[in-house]
Amino acid sequence: MTLKTFKGGLHPPDSKHYSAEKAIEICPLPEELIIPLAQHIGAPAEACVEVGVLVKKGTLIAKAKGFVSVPIHASTSGEVVAIEPRLHPMGKALPAIVIKPDGEDSWDESLKGADPASLDADELKKRILAAGMVGMGGATFPAHVKLSPPPEKKIDTLILNGVECEPYLTADHRMMIEATERILDGIKILLTVLGIERAVIGIEANKPDAIEIMTKAAGPCNIEVQALEVKYPQGAEKQLIDAITGRQVPSGTLPMEVGVVVHNVGTCAAISDAIRLGHPLVERVVSITGPAIKQPKNLLVRVGTSLQFLVDQCGGLNGEAAKIIMGGPMMGQTQLSLEPPAIRGTSGLLIFREQDLPRLTAGPCIRCGRCIGACPIDLQPTTIAAYARLDLFDETADYHALDCIECGCCTYICPATLPLVQSIRYAKAAIMAKKRTL
Ligand code: SF4
Ligand code: SF4
Repeated sequence: MTLKTFKGGLHPPDSKHYSAEKAIEICPLPEELIIPLAQHIGAPAEACVEVGVLVKKGTLIAKAKGFVSVPIHASTSGEVVAIEPRLHPMGKALPAIVIKPDGEDSWDESLKGADPASLDADELKKRILAAGMVGMGGATFPAHVKLSPPPEKKIDTLILNGVECEPYLTADHRMMIEATERILDGIKILLTVLGIERAVIGIEANKPDAIEIMTKAAGPCNIEVQALEVKYPQGAEKQLIDAITGRQVPSGTLPMEVGVVVHNVGTCAAISDAIRLGHPLVERVVSITGPAIKQPKNLLVRVGTSLQFLVDQCGGLNGEAAKIIMGGPMMGQTQLSLEPPAIRGTSGLLIFREQDLPRLTAGPCIRCGRCIGACPIDLQPTTIAAYARLDLFDETADYHALDCIECGCCTYICPATLPLVQSIRYAKAAIMAKKRTL
């Protein structure tokens, strides 16, 4: 199979050997589940239960607040013991519903599934929203929003993201091997919702077992599998669309602009469960990995389980944690401690010791241009970052700072180890803040 790809990017070591061969295990129940109300792009959900209420697994505990928002459900059966700010992976205390499990882990019996063939596109979409479905690749964009393009945007292709280009992460890889049929079922449901026939699953060539299994299973369903060159950020939406269709999503627009909708493979499996079983999104696979983890694993984790509990299930640490990252090392979020919970967008937990980290000293820009060559968006990271350091935000906007997808390629490749993506992120926040006041 010819490998497709996009322009730019780079080849960091994939470091997936820690957990790639580890079959998914079910994570035990922790003593408490901390379920934040903000777990998705858009307005946080609004609590609809009170302290003292008994809930079942899948019971609605917070309602969506607006179109770009999703509801949240209890991840196990038990008692709501607090609704209060708790440390969120974002690094600050945010409102959360705390559940003390009763140990039964029993599903809410009012949740009913259905044969997808018996439901029309609107009803399927309604159920996807009611299940709190979001993009599980890490972006957590509400799935129903992506499935609601305006009538003038003609969609003809559904792309399934099985790329998992971030080093270390293996959750999607394991899902493609172990949950193949659920993923394909979810894809068929999405094709019905979108009213189209073409679906392409994109998988990086460093997962030959997943490519083989998915190709064998998808062929009879008329779903294509496309192997992709191993290159970061192959799994970023616009780069994936470019690689598979050759279409470029214009600056400031969404994939629907070029007739494409992209969903993660894990999201597809969850959508199948939501429709067939009536189960909302209350658990997901998380790779707990990195050199500091004694026994790296892929765990099926209930939303709200603390990071410390996940580490404990993997035999603890091989030394002192010097860096904790939720997600991948390129785009993940650094954590100050293991106190926050895993949420719907948590694809991985990486832990490094001091000796695992490179020793970097930032120097002046030597004008080598490597950051420009690596940028998948064709930006000039060195120029934008230089303006950002001087707080010249109009100039950063002129150089299209808002198009930056924060992939981190520029920072990774920079021989002067300049924190380019951090400066660009700072500029983007300033530009957006200014836009809001206009
Ligand atoms: S400027 Fe943004 S998009 Fe370009 S390489 Fe840097 S982080 Fe990635
Ligand atoms: S990679 Fe670093 S040193 Fe080279 S041009 Fe970009 S900012 Fe300057």
